Amino acid sequence: MANPFPKAEKFRARVIQSAEQALATNGYVAPLDVFLRTGLLVPPHVDAWRKGRVDNLVSQIQGSLQKQIFLRQTLEDWAREHALTPSETRYARPSRDGAAELRFSVDGNPLDETFFRTHYLPASMPEKQKEKLTGKLNRVEPPVVFQILRDSACSECGVEVESGALLYMEAQQPLCLACARMDELEYLEAGDAALTRRSTKYSSRTAVVVRFSRSRGRYERQGILVEPAALERAERECAADADQRAQARAAGAVRREKEDRDFTHRLTRQLLVLFPGCPPREAERIAAHTAVRGSGRVGRSAAARKLDDRALHAAVAAAVRHNHTDYDQRLAAGADRESARAAVGPQVHRILDAWRNVD
Ligand SMILES: [Zn+2]
Repeated sequence: MANPFPKAEKFRARVIQSAEQALATNGYVAPLDVFLRTGLLVPPHVDAWRKGRVDNLVSQIQGSLQKQIFLRQTLEDWAREHALTPSETRYARPSRDGAAELRFSVDGNPLDETFFRTHYLPASMPEKQKEKLTGKLNRVEPPVVFQILRDSACSECGVEVESGALLYMEAQQPLCLACARMDELEYLEAGDAALTRRSTKYSSRTAVVVRFSRSRGRYERQGILVEPAALERAERECAADADQRAQARAAGAVRREKEDRDFTHRLTRQLLVLFPGCPPREAERIAAHTAVRGSGRVGRSAAARKLDDRALHAAVAAAVRHNHTDYDQRLAAGADRESARAAVGPQVHRILDAWRNVD
């Protein structure tokens, strides 16, 4: 191919490098990804298109038409040379009417559409994995509904939506659930995993309900909206096998309890290696206290799981502070943590030293 624009060879290298990187990162190559990696498309524009705020992607591409055509040709040649398997993928966004197909070309030109929808998979990828991947790529995420923190109004019917109520955003326009055609769906609060999974499975339409957490600075899932019939069926099934599921949970609890016991034993042994002077009973108590599942205490951190010495030191120091000094009384009397720690520090050190060094 003759050089259609200055520095075309350099650009060719960039296209190929982008494709290789995409393949290494994702296990497949999507033309859209190569446009992003070469900078011919920028994420905010792609995002606007994915959300339906702009109706085609090609108009968002930066750079001359020659450059675009050159990129396409280079990518297709590269894919052929590497014997990659082309596979068409669906691009759609959730909308109130179900999945809405995304359009790449300005005018629905089938060549443009096919080019962008064609992903390249390594020929060596096992069939099963290919199926799984295309299934994942073709899945359209359910729409997201917001439990709002401030009063709002529907952009279509004008009805007021009070804070705490649900609102759907389409192309940045707020819609009440009636206008979003979701008012017949039923809200299922998160918490019962089996019920949520089954309701989702039986419902032909679902939506995810999220709420913004000011303290955590992010959206958090609150529950889902599902068809009432799906929820009923899921509830019936959950009631029918509640006993079985309770048994499975109990078996899991027994297993975790044993894991905790084993872990506590290991922790105790390790503690006594570090602090041979520590009374064995006390070492056991510290280990048990430190190992409590899910408590977030230092012994449960990944470091202590691996019996990291520094984490164990911290756990023992904390235990000594609580059990062998008046640290807790000082806190109760109103001292702040830092000064209470400083006050009992020498005493803690003395005890740790004595435990560490046995004559
Ligand atoms: Zn409305």
